Amino acid sequence: MTVPSRVPMYEHGKLYQLQKQEIDDAVRRVIEKGVFDWGDEVAAFEEEFASWNGVEHAVSVNSGTAAIKIALLAANVGRGDEVITVPNTDISSSSGIRHTGADVVWVDIEPLSRTMDTQALRRAITNRTKAILPVDLFGHPANMPEIMDIASQQGLVVIEDACLALGATIDGRKVGGFATATCFSFAPKKHLGSYGSGGAILTRNGAFAERMRKLSAYGQSRHRHRSNTTVAGNTGLYIEEEGSNEQLDELQAAILRVKLRDFAQTLGTRRNQAARYSQALRNLPLDLPNCLEGFEHAWRNYVLEHDDRDRIRLYLSNNGVQTNLSYSPPMHLQPVYRSMNKGENSFPVTERSCSRLFGLPIGPHIDDEQLEHVLQTLHNFFGSH
Ligand SMILES: *Cc1c(COP(=O)(O)O)cnc(C)c1O
Repeated sequence: MTVPSRVPMYEHGKLYQLQKQEIDDAVRRVIEKGVFDWGDEVAAFEEEFASWNGVEHAVSVNSGTAAIKIALLAANVGRGDEVITVPNTDISSSSGIRHTGADVVWVDIEPLSRTMDTQALRRAITNRTKAILPVDLFGHPANMPEIMDIASQQGLVVIEDACLALGATIDGRKVGGFATATCFSFAPKKHLGSYGSGGAILTRNGAFAERMRKLSAYGQSRHRHRSNTTVAGNTGLYIEEEGSNEQLDELQAAILRVKLRDFAQTLGTRRNQAARYSQALRNLPLDLPNCLEGFEHAWRNYVLEHDDRDRIRLYLSNNGVQTNLSYSPPMHLQPVYRSMNKGENSFPVTERSCSRLFGLPIGPHIDDEQLEHVLQTLHNFFGSH
């Protein structure tokens, strides 16, 4: 038996207790109705999610991984194309590109935001480049205004991986309003977490949304499917695309609708916690996470950097504080991509960040007393070392 941490990274059961009645009601409503796919909950969630983000269309899917792949497919990315992304991210940003048949081109990051270096992006564009896939790492948006300028000059599509950045803003505008399509994850550990798996894509383009909906639902139009199955004796299949089965399910949609209602509060808690961390740690010899001028962070992760991160993590762990290593080592150094021949020193800024970073617990499952324990433990480490 492992002893539970005094300050865990995640505690889903505790978050459930905070909304138990509403979640129970939502789950019971779906089960009693007996509609688990092609139902009203998914459609309602999409409408509410689009409206929360101030973007015209939301297409829900069953993971962030699916969101990235479906958005690329709907943009006609495929064999012979190159898509530019960064290596310090989830596997899905790279594998999603390769699953379309296209080639991944990684570029380095800029150190303060840990997102795509736009100079490196400019240098990486070739006549095969079809799309740019920036990642809003840890909740800090990539430099979307500049990336969109580059894309429009070069006629490129932009698929933004905002799986960690729901609620983040640039000059007061929420992410989701910039790119051709913006992808989100509702994995349980994301800051809007489902009770299984989920994802969504935002877009301003109605035809693009409709195409993504079909691609994620067997190539069938939802509208047609739903009207077809409510009349007596349906009129048979009507498949318009070679789609996959990657729709969000009704139970997850119902749960996410409950959690979305409280999401602004969740974000507020995270922002307060991040501010408290940064204020209390500013005098320690740690590289604190930045938030660039004009950007508002979603604080899905609070990620510090230090040369001695392994010793710090061990000390924290011995004192009941969990930490994690998000997206370290980077993708170009993973066994799966050995054949791409991008060894060490290919992306020095990324490698330095990934070798020094560690994440602290953050989120509404942490109370003030727990947060102060994290701070005290870090102060003790530096006081005694
Ligand atoms: C979580 C995550 C994904 C994948 O989302 P899943 O829902 O786990 O498939 C993709 N990109 C980033 C940056 C993520 O954090």
